[in-house]
Amino acid sequence: MLDQFLLTDRVAIVTGGNRGLGRAMAIALASAGARVIIAARDLQAAEAVRAEIIAQGGDAECQSLDVGDDAAAEALVNEVAARYGRLDILINNAGIVGRKPLAETTPEDYRAVIDINLNSAFVLSRAAAPHMRKNRYGRIINIGSIMSRISRAGVPGYVSSKHGIDGLTKALAAELGPDGITVNGIGPGYFVTDITTPLQATDFKQMVEQRTPLGRWGQPEDLSGATVFLASPAASYVNGHLMIIDGGLSTTL
Ligand code: NDP
Repeated sequence: MLDQFLLTDRVAIVTGGNRGLGRAMAIALASAGARVIIAARDLQAAEAVRAEIIAQGGDAECQSLDVGDDAAAEALVNEVAARYGRLDILINNAGIVGRKPLAETTPEDYRAVIDINLNSAFVLSRAAAPHMRKNRYGRIINIGSIMSRISRAGVPGYVSSKHGIDGLTKALAAELGPDGITVNGIGPGYFVTDITTPLQATDFKQMVEQRTPLGRWGQPEDLSGATVFLASPAASYVNGHLMIIDGGLSTTL
């Protein structure tokens, strides 16, 4: 049974795999046997993750990528697929947040968040699909959020982009399923990473602890099991799903 979770010889791209949630997912995939391409802007941080993976006996490489650059994103996917003769797993994880009320959020601010969080997942998935189709095996995992399902004031672009991730996931699941490619999402709750540093410094920190049935914030490694599962043959009939991983936060009022 456990063999179904192995990713031996699978080639995986993880955008934003250099820190935070992406780092943990890259390490998890590598520990299950995948060859991981860490695609991000900050290559120094990416190199540190690569070194960690190699030290644990895994396989990884780093590639410079700004996911807002469509041509560069497509080129990276094609280059990786050509070099290894396959692309099995794509994790669309890179993301940003803009924390401003509606009146202070300019159209440019809004578009920037939609572009990085949502449009890049479309561009990368579109580029990856033909390579996955060739082997009739593909796993696309889009990182949404509990903000794919619920909302908060002060983050209009973020909430829109993450709801969009849920829609994109379903749309691609419907279209790529016949080719043996599954498309799923992970919707994290509140996790301790750089993106939530400003929240961790306020009363918000305690609010999350009190409202989360498990009584704590998530650690990036809390996503490892779900990531390997969704990327593996074990999840062969899971398609179009967005798995909320939030310690139960969004189930409470
Ligand atoms: P971090 O701020 O720690 O990491 C963000 C990651 O995105 C970095 O690896 C960064 O790479 C990458 N990134 C941002 N912009 C770009 C870009 N233009 N091109 C390439 N890479 C880029 O945050 P998290 O790890 O927490 O966030 C990862 C994902 O998880 C995001 O999509 C976020 O929305 C989502 N998420 C996070 C939650 C949390 O509580 N932490 C909750 C729900 C969802 P670089 O260093 O090169 O800029």
